[in-house]
Amino acid sequence: MNSTPAQIRQWDNDHVWHPFAAMSAYRDEGAPIIADAEGFFLKDTDGSELLDGYSSLWCNVHGHRVPEIDSAVHNQLDRVAHCTLLGSANLPSIELARQLVERTPDGLNKVFYSDSGSTAVEVALKIAYQYHHQKPNSPGKRDLFLCMGDAYHGDTIGSVSVGGMSLFHATYGDLLFKTLKLPPPVTFRVPDGYDANTYSAYCFDELERAVRENHERIAAFVIEPLVQGAAGILVHADGYLRRVRELTAEYGILLIADEVAVGFGRTGTMFACEQEQVRPDLMCLAKGISGGYLPIAATLATDEIYDVFLGDPTDGKTFYHGHTYTGNPLGCAASLASLKLFDDNRVLDNVQTISQQLQTRMAELQSHSRVGEVRQKGIMVGIELVRDRDGNEPYPAADRIGHQVTLASRRRGVMIRPLGDVIVLMPAPAMPVELIDQLCDAAIESINEVTA
Ligand SMILES: *Cc1c(COP(=O)(O)O)cnc(C)c1O
Repeated sequence: MNSTPAQIRQWDNDHVWHPFAAMSAYRDEGAPIIADAEGFFLKDTDGSELLDGYSSLWCNVHGHRVPEIDSAVHNQLDRVAHCTLLGSANLPSIELARQLVERTPDGLNKVFYSDSGSTAVEVALKIAYQYHHQKPNSPGKRDLFLCMGDAYHGDTIGSVSVGGMSLFHATYGDLLFKTLKLPPPVTFRVPDGYDANTYSAYCFDELERAVRENHERIAAFVIEPLVQGAAGILVHADGYLRRVRELTAEYGILLIADEVAVGFGRTGTMFACEQEQVRPDLMCLAKGISGGYLPIAATLATDEIYDVFLGDPTDGKTFYHGHTYTGNPLGCAASLASLKLFDDNRVLDNVQTISQQLQTRMAELQSHSRVGEVRQKGIMVGIELVRDRDGNEPYPAADRIGHQVTLASRRRGVMIRPLGDVIVLMPAPAMPVELIDQLCDAAIESINEVTA
């Protein structure tokens, strides 16, 4: 575009409806308009260089304009950009399926592609529901889903139904199907009468009770393993996921692991489920799958589930679901290049190094008078700001304190995005440790400035 930055901003304001944005405030403030990028920096139309401290919304893995991924996409462009998985196949989607099966927990042998985290979850929900309908010797249909309070699984109506964030989801209440919600086993703002330990015990008991009392009706348990991201980087008590797996296995309830945010190294291992030796029945992948390059997603399933959908075409067992750009060759080629870089550049080793550094730097905030809690798992960090540490009294919503901190951070050349009053640090798994320091410096200084 040959136009001035001011003209471009005007067109953005006139015509683009931004996601998750209060548009009047967005237009008044003027967000950066990204023109290009290099490595771990974004560059805007005003010429500012901004460290990508949120992995371009939790997606980016190896940085931007990575030569290996760029050339994988270019090479695929020279062959075919898009063709369909409906009635035909393509080379990169076959190879990627094979490699995902190899890298995910044992037993997940089938890959169903789609194009976003929401669709990956939607696919898993429909598979789980249909599975119980047509499973041989099924005692009856199961139409209930068990899920976590404050969960976030995406924005389609199915994934909103299993979500629990009232700010995003309350409006659509009448449109949603029924679920049972469990209290997340967390340590912050536990209800009166509990401390962190007794509250954790209560959450385990509630899990047990909900499963034992309702198992005949429950099709699946949907969970973000280890960390509930959008809820504010809520880190679950150790052993919770393991217990969920034991109970769901005991009662024939399918376990859907939504690894859309936590997958591809962010919690310290390639997949979060590995840390509690859990093999889910269905696993949802998106965000980091393509290194943060292109919209692609996958829902992995066991053979046992897949086999229930086999039969004569007229038997009615087919999974009638699919998105037009399913298995897109460019997205699959980028994903294959990203997986190769995980090995070639020992990205998981880097994750260990930088998660250590994040932990060291976050210790500086432990006794900060405006910080209620710092939560961290791997390289996912949430800093919960409070007006008063005694009683963890929140700031008034109108202060938009989290947002103010991200504006202050941007003035320091670092892009982050809050979740309400929680400042989120979400560096890319391959980010070098010097840039982690730059990210922490900007976040800490901005918190100090805004909360002073
Ligand atoms: C982001 C996210 C989703 C939704 O992914 P989209 O690609 O935005 O549809 C689903 N689940 C989790 C855990 C997420 O963090």
